[in-house]
Order: sequence, then structure tokens, then C-alpha cells
Amino acid sequence: MIKAAVILLAISLASSCVGQTDKPVSRVESEDKSVALTFDDGPHPKYTEEILDVLDEYGVKATFFVIGKNVKENPGLVEEELRRGHEVECHTYSHKYANALGYKEALRELKKSEDESGVVFSYVRPPGGILSKGFSKAASELSYKTVLWSVDTRDWKCPGVGRVVSAVTSNVKPGDIILMHDYVSGKSDTPEALKIIIPKLLEEGYVFMTVDELINGK
Ligand SMILES: [Zn+2]
Repeated sequence: MIKAAVILLAISLASSCVGQTDKPVSRVESEDKSVALTFDDGPHPKYTEEILDVLDEYGVKATFFVIGKNVKENPGLVEEELRRGHEVECHTYSHKYANALGYKEALRELKKSEDESGVVFSYVRPPGGILSKGFSKAASELSYKTVLWSVDTRDWKCPGVGRVVSAVTSNVKPGDIILMHDYVSGKSDTPEALKIIIPKLLEEGYVFMTVDELINGK
């Protein structure tokens, strides 16, 4: 009887571990100093290229969570991101929050974004980091893992280069996923901030990875 109880406990522990892999990932445990730079809401006709140039200058690879509508309006930039060795993932088609979407609408938002981008996505970042039952069901239907973040630069508010830099440099830890934006409506601080953040973190021994490399190991 005791033996049976132990076996049952082992089975239930194993199944809860399986369930945990579907949980949103905000950061990973990392023994080395790996971090992932992520850029949301693009592509943008000006800032995406500028960011790509800074990343190239330091040989750093990053992950772009694109909006399908912006992919359509700015053709060629997803191809450019892929050509330069970056990862491109899903940030929905029209940036509607998950709590405003039912399952079917969420599925349409994700599929339409994939069709527009021409990329088979593995990850999705829900706009605003907001989740809902319908959204999660749609994401798992498409086998997307949900990715959030652990360092928030709030660069979309255009708070000044210094604030964007210190949001990263004073908070970053190994295994962090850093949230930035290549599409902002004002004058972006992000390309200039990256010119300071990247060399500083490299000097501190950090290694930049894509989200997939960070989660699955390079
Ligand atoms: Zn967004």
C-alpha cells in the first residue's frame, strides 16, 4: 500500500513537471552569464535597421517579437533580421491584449502574424505580457511557448538614453530576458542605449543569446 502511494506520488510529480514546461518563461537559471536581448512591436522603418547595425557592430544576436501588421507595412525587414542571424518570433498580428480575445480570435491573431511573416514561430510574447485562457489555448494549439521578460527597460516611453541604460545595467543577472522595443511612436532612445549597454555587459563577461538558445542551451 505504501509502495503504491509512493508510485502514485512519483507519477503526479512527473506530470506536474510536464505541465511546468508550458508555463510562460520570464528568465532561465543560468550558471554562465547568458542573457537575451528582445525587441518587441517592430519592424519599424527607421529604428529596426539602426538596432540591427548596432547588434552587427558587436556580433550580438537577438530576438525580434514582431507584429504582423508592421511586418506587412515594412516589407523586407523580417528577411533582413533573419539574414543577419537573429531570431524572429510572434507578438500577434495587431497587438490586441489577450484579455480582449477569445480562443478563435487569438488563434487568428497568431496565425495571421505567422502567415504575414513567413516564419514558423516557436515562441509568442503576448502584448503587455497579458495572458488569458483563450490566448494560451491558441498558443499551445500552434505549439508556441510563451515568453515574457525579467528586465523591463520601458524604452517605449522614450525616457532618455540614460534611463534605458541603467534599467539594464543596474538590474541584469545571468539568465535574464531583457525587454526592449524596436518600434516606438516617439524618438527612440534604444539604438543609442544599446551602444552603451552591449559593450558594458560584454566587458562584464556577459554572453548574448537568442531566446531559443537561452531556453534550450546553445
Ligand atoms: Zn508590444
